[in-house]
Amino acid sequence: MPKPSIIAIDGPAASGKSTLGHRLADALGYLFFDTGVMYRAVTYIAIRGGVDVNDEAAVTAIANEVLIDVRPPSKADGRACDVIVGLTDITWETRRLAVDANVSVVSTYKGVRAALASQQRRIGLRGRVVMVGRDIGTVVLPEADLKIYLDASAEQRARRRYDEIIARGEEASFDEILAGVRMRDEIDSARAFSPLKIAEDAIVLDSDSLNADEVFLRVEVLCR
Ligand code: C5P
Repeated sequence: MPKPSIIAIDGPAASGKSTLGHRLADALGYLFFDTGVMYRAVTYIAIRGGVDVNDEAAVTAIANEVLIDVRPPSKADGRACDVIVGLTDITWETRRLAVDANVSVVSTYKGVRAALASQQRRIGLRGRVVMVGRDIGTVVLPEADLKIYLDASAEQRARRRYDEIIARGEEASFDEILAGVRMRDEIDSARAFSPLKIAEDAIVLDSDSLNADEVFLRVEVLCR
């Protein structure tokens, strides 16, 4: 049986999708593509430009104009990929708490989703790709050969995000992060256009009961 060429990994914020996707892409020699960084980049550019993130038309115009380049990591500083806009590396800016707090609203906008999803689909259809997001198996690449839905409790996911921020030497409040994770879950699942949901043909794994190694090994077996 041939190996799956298009692999979709979906799930809620901080469920371990990027860790899994990155490791899998390395093991298979595939491109790792984290689609969340594109929504984060649009959100960051809006905030940086003083654009109100509630102004759908202005944010959609940014998504249509800006060219976001997602490349393999150029530095070993914990990043999964480089996020470049123009000549500027905005990788770490896209991980700021202000972006966390506003990205879910930006990703409810139909025009933003259409602009970013078409770029994602074009790249995904080339194959040999592990694409990570919320709607990859349901909307962006419904023809994916293997679909994984990675779940975990809100507490576990908030703990992971908190540890990441502290490890970077930044300050954070666990309770605020947990509240933020819950709010993003709510917005991501309830939005009208391509909400977070499990594809009918997805394999669901729960990273509360499996550690990162166990999740990886299960998926690796599925790929063989
Ligand atoms: O995965 P990450 O947390 O970096 O994604 C940031 C945000 O981008 C999510 O909270 C979600 O609102 C949005 N997103 C999305 N569809 C995707 C990937 C991310 O709506 N395919």
